[in-house]
Amino acid sequence: NQQKNTLPTYPGLEQFVLIEKMGDGAFSSVYKAHDTKANRTVAIKVVRKYDMSAHQRANILKEVQIMRQLKHRGVVELYDFSESDEHYFLVLELATGGELFHRIVKLTYFSEDLARHVIVQVAEAIRYLHEERGVVHRDIKPENILFEPIPIIPSPPGYKPDEEDKEDEGIFQPGIGGGGIGRVKIADFGLSKIVWDEQTMTPCGTVGYTAPEIVKDERYSKSVDMWALGCVLYTLLVGFPPFYDESIQALTEKVARGQFTFLSPWWDEISFEVKDLISHLLCVDPNERYTIDQFLAHPWIRAGEQDIQSTV
Ligand code: ADP
Ligand code: MG
Repeated sequence: NQQKNTLPTYPGLEQFVLIEKMGDGAFSSVYKAHDTKANRTVAIKVVRKYDMSAHQRANILKEVQIMRQLKHRGVVELYDFSESDEHYFLVLELATGGELFHRIVKLTYFSEDLARHVIVQVAEAIRYLHEERGVVHRDIKPENILFEPIPIIPSPPGYKPDEEDKEDEGIFQPGIGGGGIGRVKIADFGLSKIVWDEQTMTPCGTVGYTAPEIVKDERYSKSVDMWALGCVLYTLLVGFPPFYDESIQALTEKVARGQFTFLSPWWDEISFEVKDLISHLLCVDPNERYTIDQFLAHPWIRAGEQDIQSTV
């Protein structure tokens, strides 16, 4: 197709054959590519050095350094990192199922079971980051939550999907837990950082001499991911975010006040339990906001445990 002809070639990436562009950011493009040495398909995030300040370049190196320490099935794996004069190359585990963002746009909204199926996976990954690695992601949003390829389920003999079924293939297939939407992975550690452990006041991962004001500053940083998780869960259930305004200033004020509602009629049929859970995430005081362990222990999450086990 057209796009294939316009794919650039990058000195330093000779080992890879670019297949298609999958995403675009301010300083980067993400390609699906074939790794001819490892003989596997990967994602490559190509970052343009020349557009970036020294500070921004340092951030990319930090992203790489953090990703190197992560290994979890809910987190996109960094396979390799290299650079040329003009670019950084992050070779990543490929998540071919696309962004959660696009699934929401396509489905408009998710049933409670489907929303639970997705959000539990995101939460398990966040629990790994927060509790096992001391990493705060800081950019949890539907664009940074990616789907694994949907497992192909053999069709029954004689089964012929009609056009509409083909289009939605895999999404509502019965037989996979949660309605068969597949597994998700967190991507994009460009804003992530390693934080200090709240209980022991020791740095997670590294040894240092950090001043108390920094430790205090970071005490609440895990809670920013929990706020974002609440926003994602809200959006999954109704297809629009909890905070929105055309004007950035008005939006900022709404967020600062934690001013959101369970808007009728969209929320009328949705359970009290999940509203309660969201309310404990979208609360302005980070001291009161649920931690990841409180989130995972909530009755609405526990109600799906049967389902979770069947997908493992
Ligand atoms: P940015 O910092 O520009 O947001 P991201 O790392 O989020 O960079 O990548 C931008 C987009 O590229 C993502 O939203 C997603 O659509 C796509 N993408 C990134 N990593 C992968 C991956 N491992 N597999 C598939 N698509 C990816
Ligand atoms: Mg991103």
